[in-house]
Amino acid sequence: MTHAATDGSDTTGIQLNEHDAIVIVDIQNDFLEGGALAVQEGHLTVPVINSILPLFDNVVFTRDWHPPDHISFAAQPTYEDRSWPAHAVRNTPGAQFHKDLHVPEHALIVNKATLRDREEYSGFQASEIDLAKWLRDRGVLRLFIAGIATDYCVHHTALDGAGEGFQVFVVEDAVRGISADTVAQTWQILAAAGVTPVLSSHLHREPRTGR
Ligand SMILES: [Zn+2]
Repeated sequence: MTHAATDGSDTTGIQLNEHDAIVIVDIQNDFLEGGALAVQEGHLTVPVINSILPLFDNVVFTRDWHPPDHISFAAQPTYEDRSWPAHAVRNTPGAQFHKDLHVPEHALIVNKATLRDREEYSGFQASEIDLAKWLRDRGVLRLFIAGIATDYCVHHTALDGAGEGFQVFVVEDAVRGISADTVAQTWQILAAAGVTPVLSSHLHREPRTGR
């Protein structure tokens, strides 16, 4: 087999391989339109995510999976102090993934903030699994992050991934945030941590054989 020479394909793109993983953050009903803690336009990430999922061998979905009395819940939430209305209570409709999200059989699902007195914005903080080890055991080197919300759980997942030594990209058109101010701060903080924004249309994969 010969390797393809330059064929005029877009040089700004990223060729994906078996050492890449995608981490889809919190595409759950409570964070989408009509949910307890809805992120505006959050549902618009779903078709973009579905379109790039097949490019990855390693697929991780995170989800908030709270007990009913989770420490972040407040009757009078201020949001600014990171108290929220009750959301994503495990085994409730609000905690389910969006109905149109494709969740492949081989995907890893990471439940976050499952203990009453612990907040976990990032899958890397999850009590139930060592996500960094899971990824390393599969030979993953680069992480591509998508989902919601840009300024909270995507932010922390990307930062923690970089802190664990992975090369991290955030898929810009596959994330949505809560507020323009905190989203702008997030992009600055992530850039300083070496995290790179990328568009879904720039992700490519050579056709795979034998799969
Ligand atoms: Zn939560």
